[in-house]
Amino acid sequence: MAEKKYVVAIDQGTTSSRCMVFDKKGLPVCSDQMEHAQIFPKPGWVEHDAMEIWSRTKDVIRGAMEKGRISPDEVAAVGITNQRETTVVWEKATGKPIYNAIVWQCMRTQDFCAEWQKSPGWEQDETGQGKVKDHTGLLISPYFSGTKIKWILDNVPGSRERAARGELLFGNIDTWLIWQLTGGPEGGVHVTDVSNASRTLLMNIKTLKWDEEMAKFLDVPLAMLPQIKPSSHVYGKTVANGPFRGEITVSGDLGDQQAALFGQVCFNKGDTKNTYGTGCFMLMNIGETPVSSKNGLLTTAGYSLQEGKCVYALEGSIANTGAAVQWLRDNLKILDESPDSEYLAKKVDDSGGVYFVPAFSGLYAPYWDMSARGSIVGLTRFVRKEHLIRATLESICYQTRDVVDAMNKDSGVPLAELKVDGGAVRNNLLMQMQSDILGAKVVRPVVNETTALGAAYAAGLAVGFWKDTNELRSNWAEDRRFDSLVSEEKRETAYKGWKKAIEKSKGWLD
Ligand code: ADP
Repeated sequence: MAEKKYVVAIDQGTTSSRCMVFDKKGLPVCSDQMEHAQIFPKPGWVEHDAMEIWSRTKDVIRGAMEKGRISPDEVAAVGITNQRETTVVWEKATGKPIYNAIVWQCMRTQDFCAEWQKSPGWEQDETGQGKVKDHTGLLISPYFSGTKIKWILDNVPGSRERAARGELLFGNIDTWLIWQLTGGPEGGVHVTDVSNASRTLLMNIKTLKWDEEMAKFLDVPLAMLPQIKPSSHVYGKTVANGPFRGEITVSGDLGDQQAALFGQVCFNKGDTKNTYGTGCFMLMNIGETPVSSKNGLLTTAGYSLQEGKCVYALEGSIANTGAAVQWLRDNLKILDESPDSEYLAKKVDDSGGVYFVPAFSGLYAPYWDMSARGSIVGLTRFVRKEHLIRATLESICYQTRDVVDAMNKDSGVPLAELKVDGGAVRNNLLMQMQSDILGAKVVRPVVNETTALGAAYAAGLAVGFWKDTNELRSNWAEDRRFDSLVSEEKRETAYKGWKKAIEKSKGWLD
């Protein structure tokens, strides 16, 4: 038996699938990545082919193992992290999906959600308080899996009856991949973890069990739902004739944002991370009691290391941050590459009084205004493209500030330090501006692949590859720390301008 030197993470994201191998120090050893097709059948609808995702996942596993010349005997465990909420329903006997995967971004159930909000007993106020929040920590929204499952069962003839008979299975992508890796139709394990289950609208946020009232209302048979397990837990073994070419313990499962929280070792109450990608997702560890937000945040399961126990998180999701930089690049063509935003924005001292609210698809946390649209305000003849680019980077920081303020109000403790990760954090100017706009420290780790790392950590902990969370903490290393360089007065004056700009964007659609 070879020495166990590695843990493998599969990171199945919205646009691509990746496989990364980590060593004992939590450092990446090798990886492989492949994209999959985005399917847009109608405006606002987004689907993936779940079979293609499984295929690409197998390819990247083989790719990473070959690149690093890694033998399955050297791998202690496999962890999965995934795009959350995306919904797959498939036949247990054949492993064939009965419909394309409905992606988290898909808005097809918006009308149903609007009706639902008006149903007696289910109404929610503008911050989302109501029965759904009580049961699930979430809001009534097409974003989450529950109404997507309902849509499939309503639209594929006979599927609800088949699901009730146990012939059809539901899963988010974590569940789909674990089932396939552990044997598929020949004995695949049908499980999920609390962090993924907490994004379905079907898990009770207090009991961590499927919520019968929610399932009944959405007409989802309990027989099709996976077992809810801790995020670090031995679920099963990969089959010997699968992509790993060996039997490896599958023992980590976390939704991507919760995985980043875990990979950033945010194990103490109050520890907070923000991931800067297409959008931003900020999660704060709130300990073992699910506090309900009064300020437009979601309450979500952070991670669980033990059956029946859970560390919760408050989550602020922002839809468009890096996407606004992409818009400058692809639509306005004033950038060749996203990273050029840094040196161009540096050419000016400030944004020249311009504010850009990139509410391309409405405003998510903390506003939850789906009728908002983007706006650029404060324009004068003085303004050049460099000002607009700077205002775009500032918009990422201001949106983050909005969420931090909501978190501070909910938790009652001001944020002292924000751990950051994701593609855009390599932009040093962006990070400096973030610290200036927050008036808090911004800390960037050496390993920026925290999502995959979090899944690896969960898997490795379950099999004793890492002893405990203290050992994981000692792996975390700081790359750079940013401290605010502006006065409180300057910070707050500038932020007031942002709040005015937000008002211009809100309620734009009739
Ligand atoms: P995702 O996982 O959401 O696809 P990534 O973590 O790969 O995203 O980050 C990519 C996003 O970050 C893109 O929207 C891109 O425009 C933005 N981005 C990447 N690098 C930079 C940079 N140096 N400065 C500003 N934005 C950047």
